[in-house]
Amino acid sequence: MPRSWRPSGPCPGLWALALVTAVWAAPVAGAGDRTLLAIGAHAGDVENSSGAILARHRRLGDRVVILHLTLGEGGNPKMSPAAYGEQKKREALAAAQALGAEALFGPWKDGELRDTEEAARFVADVVRQVKPTHVITHWKASLHPDHAAAHRIVNAAVLLASLEGFESLHPRHRGVRGVFYAENWEDAEGFTPYLYVDVGEDLGAWKAAVTSYEFVRGGISSFPYLEYYESLARVRGAVAGKRFAVALEVDPFAKKRVLDTLP
Ligand SMILES: [Zn+2]
Repeated sequence: MPRSWRPSGPCPGLWALALVTAVWAAPVAGAGDRTLLAIGAHAGDVENSSGAILARHRRLGDRVVILHLTLGEGGNPKMSPAAYGEQKKREALAAAQALGAEALFGPWKDGELRDTEEAARFVADVVRQVKPTHVITHWKASLHPDHAAAHRIVNAAVLLASLEGFESLHPRHRGVRGVFYAENWEDAEGFTPYLYVDVGEDLGAWKAAVTSYEFVRGGISSFPYLEYYESLARVRGAVAGKRFAVALEVDPFAKKRVLDTLP
C-alpha cells in the first residue's frame, strides 16, 4: 500500500517532541476543558487500568471516550468467540455507562491486532473526530502482542491525525496535550510510575464499572483482577500520600521540563 500518509519532513519526531514539551509548559487545563480518549486492546483493559482516572475526570466535567480496539472475545474457554464477544460488548457498554463515558469499538479480532497502516488510519480518524486533549493507552512492553500493537498504533495515529497531509473526512487535530500509559499487569516490563492521580473519591465508580465484566467478577479467569487493581491503587496511593492513586507512565522525552528557576 502507498505510504503517502507518512510525513515528508525530515523528522516527524521533532514535532512530537515540541508538542510534548509544550504540554508541560502550558497552563494546566481546567475542569471541563479536557477530553480524555482512552484506547485499549481488549474491552476491559482501559477500565481496569485507568477507569478510576476516567471516572474522576468525568466527575470533574470532562468528556471521556473509550475506544476498544477488539472485544477481547477470545478469553472465555467456555464460550464461542462470537457469543462471548456479544457479552463483552454489552459489558463494555455497561462499564462505560458507569463511568459516564462514551464507548467506541474497533473492527479487529482478539489476538489479531497488528501495527498496520490501516489500524493507524482508523485510530487517527477517531482522534480527529473525538479531538482529545489527553490520550491514554498501553505501555510499550507487554506479555500480550495486542497490547504492544495498540501502543504503536495509538502513537502513530496521534501523529497522523495532526498532519495536514493525512487525508480523511475530518480536519486535522493538533490538540493532544500528551499521551499517557496506563499501568496494566500484563504491561509491567519497564513501566515506572511517573504521574500519580488521586482517585480516592472515584474508586466506587471504578468498581461499579469494572464489575460489569464477568472476567473481573471472577467467573472466567483465575487472575484476581478486582483485588489486583484495588490493591495497586492502594500501593500507588501510599507512596503518593493519598488513600488511592493510579499511576501513569510517559515517554522519556515527555519528562523533559524547561523552567526559569528550580521548582
Ligand atoms: Zn488486554
